[in-house]
Amino acid sequence: MSKASIRQEFIDKRHTMSPEDVSAHSDTFCQNLDSVPELESVKPIASYYPLGNEISPLCYIKAQIKKGRRVVFPRHNSKTESYEMVPVSDLDNDFISGRFGVMEPRANLDALSDLNDISAWLIPGIAFDHQGTRLGFGKGIYDRLLSQESRVKIGCAYSWQVVETLPRETHDVAMDCLVTE
Ligand code: ADP
Ligand code: MG
Repeated sequence: MSKASIRQEFIDKRHTMSPEDVSAHSDTFCQNLDSVPELESVKPIASYYPLGNEISPLCYIKAQIKKGRRVVFPRHNSKTESYEMVPVSDLDNDFISGRFGVMEPRANLDALSDLNDISAWLIPGIAFDHQGTRLGFGKGIYDRLLSQESRVKIGCAYSWQVVETLPRETHDVAMDCLVTE
């Protein structure tokens, strides 16, 4: 099957999830994140702000901020036409609706100057496979952002989004591990 047809099937399936399921599975997912060894570093963690029914890491991130850990989120820079990672400290007030309707850090917040300061990346997706292949929305955003990135990359998804094998192209950046509910 083509990337496009798999994408559509999994997007459609995610649309059918109830708010209760999204919330319950996201809670379990956040508890699971708490016991991932790769996330134990004290260095900043890169997160994402969930769009629609994407599994949410925000309860985990909120707890990390409370513990004093730095967290960074992607923000589109229209001048460079690329994404930058921005430290935030307040999940309720530091965000505004950005590109594609995704919540992004506000413009007044300074971007991280060196991506090497990030210890691990939480990355959403439409589907993943057991080899770490990731299928995104089809814009290659994370493939571009992570093309030079050697830090640990953690694919975040519902367990039904993990399949045996997905198509993988040379530009597709692989995940090091997956965390589900
Ligand atoms: P997704 O990863 O969102 O599922 P694809 O892997 O299908 O999307 O990539 C979408 C487009 O982005 C492709 O046309 C691909 O050529 C382009 N792309 C991906 N990575 C890069 C990169 N590092 N540099 C330039 N273009 C890229
Ligand atoms: Mg890709």
